[in-house]
Amino acid sequence: MLLSLGLLYLCGCTGNSSTASTTATGKMRILCTTGMLSGPLSDIVGSHAEITTLMGPGVDPHLYKPSPGDVRQISSADLVLYHGHHLEGRMGEVLSRAEGLTRDGRSRRAFAVTERISEHRLIITASGTVDPHLWMDISLWRDVAREIEQILVEVDPENSARFSSAILRLEQELILLDEQVDTLLAAIPEQRRILVTAHDAFGYFGRRYDLEVIGIQGISTESEASIQRVNSLVEMLTARKIPAVFVESTVPERNVRALIEGCEARGHLLRIGGVLYSDAPGPPGSGAGRWKTMVLHNARVISEALR
Ligand SMILES: [Zn+2]
Repeated sequence: MLLSLGLLYLCGCTGNSSTASTTATGKMRILCTTGMLSGPLSDIVGSHAEITTLMGPGVDPHLYKPSPGDVRQISSADLVLYHGHHLEGRMGEVLSRAEGLTRDGRSRRAFAVTERISEHRLIITASGTVDPHLWMDISLWRDVAREIEQILVEVDPENSARFSSAILRLEQELILLDEQVDTLLAAIPEQRRILVTAHDAFGYFGRRYDLEVIGIQGISTESEASIQRVNSLVEMLTARKIPAVFVESTVPERNVRALIEGCEARGHLLRIGGVLYSDAPGPPGSGAGRWKTMVLHNARVISEALR
């Protein structure tokens, strides 16, 4: 703990010396890692806190490396929220040591929010690790939003009534969104209910909305797809006459291109069904700039391409 505090103080001191634990307006400063967290978080806290999101549109959390500026951001936050279950691969160690004292002597709390969900509800991969892409199942992410609300109540009990009424509104909204996504995907015929994407981000999505899901790469984008894997996928896609596969905004599309070329060589026309936002919401103007619109965008693209 001494070491981690030393690290945080060291980095804070090399940067802007005016950083403090709360903003000029006295608002709580919350740092979260991704847009999947900042979406429900901002719905719950509204304008009551200042939220900073470390990883923006198109940023792959598995490969993200913390910069000295990020460590400084952590050291000036009152509350740090991250996914956990190794989603923030290279940043995980810094985040796990984020608790400590702010520079004005108050305690900074840090929570791995998805690790608060009971493991029996999570997908365990072949290698025995938890699939961290929980936000793909709206019903599961609704429970994560509830965990975020519980954390806020714990760190800021004076405003618990505000957080409690906000989560009730958000939960109602997410029940409707879940139904909307389910209806879109129900339109895909039985034999085409197969979703091939660049990496295994859609396991929870497939489980919730009844699609068979295949990632060309594994759970993390760090592993390379093997030639044998690409060849076996080409055979399956050709045999089942699957019309489309998908690219992801945070993953290079060369593996998807290899599938298209392989199918072409066997006389099967396979196309790119569209860009899916898997591990980060889209940029402003994409129509998928928040977690909610990102999941809806994905459902629309998949439904249209596979119908
Ligand atoms: Zn991922």
